[in-house]
Amino acid sequence: MADSAQLERIAQFRKMANDDPENELGHFSLGKALMDAGEYAEAIGSFERTIVLNPQFSKAFQLLGTCYIKTGQRDLAIQTLKRGYKVASERGDTMPREEMARLLRELGEEPPTLERAGQETAAGVGGFRCQRPGCYSGSRAVQLPAPPMNDELGRQIYEKICADCWREWLAVGIKVINEMRLDLSDERAQQVYDNYMKEYLGLD
Ligand SMILES: [Zn+2]
Repeated sequence: MADSAQLERIAQFRKMANDDPENELGHFSLGKALMDAGEYAEAIGSFERTIVLNPQFSKAFQLLGTCYIKTGQRDLAIQTLKRGYKVASERGDTMPREEMARLLRELGEEPPTLERAGQETAAGVGGFRCQRPGCYSGSRAVQLPAPPMNDELGRQIYEKICADCWREWLAVGIKVINEMRLDLSDERAQQVYDNYMKEYLGLD
């Protein structure tokens, strides 16, 4: 079912998840790559691990719920999506919250009512809110002083990603370059590096 590019990505992220088992993004990325290849049953383990490492990672609940639906495990899907809906509401993660509400309704369930329904999480310093899934900074999120690169990707990072997450990525990026022996003067290597960055920061 999976093509060779998908298999390559799965192998890369599996290595990342094995080499750095406490890093939830490795497990999350592996789960997504498995999902893209239609390997829903296998992706479940990766998303479960992601949530254990970071119980605030609302998007991981959404994808775990989807995998349960795809593998016919309706009760587990409902349980997971309801938990995820609460997490997403508390964090103000609008897109995962709406998607989990939609999936729950498709399953014939209403999303749980929340005591503080409709209340969004406070925005960070200067009104900045980081859009990286699983960002720990929350209301402490600070925008970068300027786009880190002079291109469209740099502009996206400046608009969506907080300074803490960017620093975290730079540390991970060095590991990616070393582990994969990337030569960034090569265009294809730069592409691989950029793809990791987008995956890590949750950019499309
Ligand atoms: Zn952040």
